[in-house]
Amino acid sequence: MIPKVIAEARKIVIKVGSNTLAMGDGTMNRAFMAEFAEQCANLVKSGKQVVLVSSGAQVAGVSTLDRWARKKDIHYRQALCAIGQVELMQNWREAFAARDLHIGQLLLTREDFNDDQRTLNMRNTIFTLVDEGVIPIINENDSVSYEEIRIGDNDNLSALTAILWSADLLILFSDIDGVYDKNPKEHADARHIGEVSDLNDLRSGITIGATNSFGTGGIATKLEAAEKVTSYGIPMLLANGSQGRCLEGLANGTNRGTVFLARD
Ligand code: ADP
Repeated sequence: MIPKVIAEARKIVIKVGSNTLAMGDGTMNRAFMAEFAEQCANLVKSGKQVVLVSSGAQVAGVSTLDRWARKKDIHYRQALCAIGQVELMQNWREAFAARDLHIGQLLLTREDFNDDQRTLNMRNTIFTLVDEGVIPIINENDSVSYEEIRIGDNDNLSALTAILWSADLLILFSDIDGVYDKNPKEHADARHIGEVSDLNDLRSGITIGATNSFGTGGIATKLEAAEKVTSYGIPMLLANGSQGRCLEGLANGTNRGTVFLARD
């Protein structure tokens, strides 16, 4: 099923979570970024179009400026994101430049999606970048956003992006290879769910456990993202980004994940 879903999609939004981008010690996983950029380049060569949603600004900030790691104050956290966003994009720029691809950055908040003129401009910018062979990389504008205008997690941001761009597929890369009936980090007997056609059924049949150290939304926001895109006819895949050559593994059927089927 997963190889078929990928083969049929031309416009793909891919979200990479903080846990996938950061290593255990909080530093950026550059080897992952290089390998990931190579796989995106191969997708582009095969005629597909890719938009990336990348978390990790705060983690990148902490690894750049270690002395702020424990500051909880909002101004410091927003300042840390300003520093980390540059670091994050610098790493992506190097990774994609090695594959002869340019990147472009969009930093967004919920307000941008609620305003017709801004939405139109975002859409046009994404279309233009992609048409010109540039990889757009999107993140929440954490340095300016506050509770009322935040999207809050990149699962929902990537879903809104997929709808905005009229994507054919949304792929979320997390540190987990799909949804289980309970948190597999806490329960060894958790059962993997390969395919979801009814989100209400899924919700009533599973228990949602805690998120990871760098994670923000956990499984709950991944289900919200699935709800959003599938109702627009866009399928979603949840898969593990830490498995080697994660994109190709999904495309050729060696890596498993959970596929959320589009609703008609
Ligand atoms: P990311 O930063 O990649 O978005 P999160 O940490 O926010 O990842 O969410 C993924 C985590 O959610 C998994 O590592 C897992 O431990 C946890 N989790 C909780 N309940 C479940 C469940 N029912 N099925 C799968 N994962 C779950």
